[in-house]
Amino acid sequence: MSLGLYVHVPFCQSKCFYCDFASNLDLAWMAAWRQALLTEIALVQDQDWPQPFDTLYLGGGTPSLLSGEVLGAIFSHLQGYFVFTTDVEITLEANPDDVTPEKLALWRKLGVNRLSLGVQSLQDAELRWLGRRHDAAQARRALEMAREAGIANLSVDLMYALPGQSEADWLATLRDVLAYEPEHLSCYQLTVAEQTPLGKKVARGELTLPGEEEQRRLFLTTSEFLESQGYSHYEISNFARGQRYFSRHNSKYWQHSPYLGLGPAAHSFDGRVRRWNVRAVEAYCRSLSAGQAPVTGVEVLSDSQLHLEALALGLRTRRGLALRVLDHFPEAQKVLAEFCEAGLLQVQQGRVCPTREGLVVADSLALMLSG
Ligand code: SF4
Repeated sequence: MSLGLYVHVPFCQSKCFYCDFASNLDLAWMAAWRQALLTEIALVQDQDWPQPFDTLYLGGGTPSLLSGEVLGAIFSHLQGYFVFTTDVEITLEANPDDVTPEKLALWRKLGVNRLSLGVQSLQDAELRWLGRRHDAAQARRALEMAREAGIANLSVDLMYALPGQSEADWLATLRDVLAYEPEHLSCYQLTVAEQTPLGKKVARGELTLPGEEEQRRLFLTTSEFLESQGYSHYEISNFARGQRYFSRHNSKYWQHSPYLGLGPAAHSFDGRVRRWNVRAVEAYCRSLSAGQAPVTGVEVLSDSQLHLEALALGLRTRRGLALRVLDHFPEAQKVLAEFCEAGLLQVQQGRVCPTREGLVVADSLALMLSG
């Protein structure tokens, strides 16, 4: 399998209530970040990563904030230093409030062939609660513009299991979004990170989130509903209108395939060694302006760690994992039989695959199988 390339754009115009991603509100750092990124591209090129790349993913942060000039410089540097396959999947994450016909035309001209739109909800009250900058009308307009611009692979990010959100509210958002016929949907349950304003509110007991049983029910409803509408539920949070629209880039993470990450907080994995860059934009820029790689952590995975990760990541997907991976875990065969009987796992064509119910408890399955 070819290599994936991730570029982290660490800037946002405001911070969402729940967000724990590496993003910086001080846009004055953008010029220094751009220069540092170009330096990192040149530095990494000497490290013998096996090319070509068949995916390029610009994530954030908010990549859609970048001007045409900055984005053009990054693309031309990447193309100058790296080799890409002719059918490379190029994804750009965009916030609805940044989307304009001009930007869409620019992204397409640069080669972006997959747009991941951070819609999150089509209900104004939910969007306000989440601290998003856009409202539902802007999100709808962005979806329309993406379609008018001829984006043929459109992915929409949504969030559910919000406090006070009923199943009917959530299904209404899903139905509305399906009117735009997105090729791909990522539906994430709200998760609480301690350091965020949301996490602090929850810690103070000012907010109650849906309980485990409610979350389980919403997960199953989402899966059943989207599969009834022709989507394949191929990973815990991800749905696509057929295999050709599975996220090629994110599949590399789940299949334990190598990828290279550039930018603050980006991770890289070569099949054995995982490295990650420093998170703060200032430190990232400082390191690169001194000609140093901005790597702050390196982990060499042992065989048993690799097997454990392959197990845990494989069980996130309906594709599952090769049955032979379980040979590394002495207790697995016994537990496997129990999980198959309980309707959580299936063995088919030499692979162990979670059922829909199994996806709900994928992490626990991995834990139990690994002994
Ligand atoms: S736009 Fe995305 S990265 Fe930026 S603060 Fe909101 S959730 Fe975080």
